[in-house]
Amino acid sequence: MKDITDKEYYTNSFHYDVRKAPTPFEKIDFEKDYPKYSAGGFIHYCEYPNLKQNPKALEAVWDYAYDRIGYLGTNTPIDQCFECGFKGEFKPTAKGFECPQCGNHDPATCDVVKRTCGYLGNPNQRPMVHGRHIEIASRVKHMSLGNDANDIARQ
Ligand SMILES: [Zn+2]
Repeated sequence: MKDITDKEYYTNSFHYDVRKAPTPFEKIDFEKDYPKYSAGGFIHYCEYPNLKQNPKALEAVWDYAYDRIGYLGTNTPIDQCFECGFKGEFKPTAKGFECPQCGNHDPATCDVVKRTCGYLGNPNQRPMVHGRHIEIASRVKHMSLGNDANDIARQ
């Protein structure tokens, strides 16, 4: 079934489809009524580009979420390459993630952090199942800086 069983992973719980790009506010509004049906626990999260230059944007989302939902994760790129010094977001490959500058994917010389199942994991040190990897690689940002790959994809 198109967009349901053909994508190689299940959309986690009540989460908005990871391939779509609502704003953080739209995502929170869509998901806010579902936790009471999630007896196994829940987390809301939003994907961001590096917002070190705009912490007010994160604060605006956190303020908005405060009275609406119980638990909000903030996913922002913190991957690091100890070979070339790159800091940011590693590029997904067929089996893991690699440094976009030098191609490094050796877990001994890089640090890759992704929200895996509510918790943060390092997929290069501890690879995940194929479907989860595809799901993470399919995630788009819920906020943009006006110059990232997601903006290009949205045009
Ligand atoms: Zn590198």
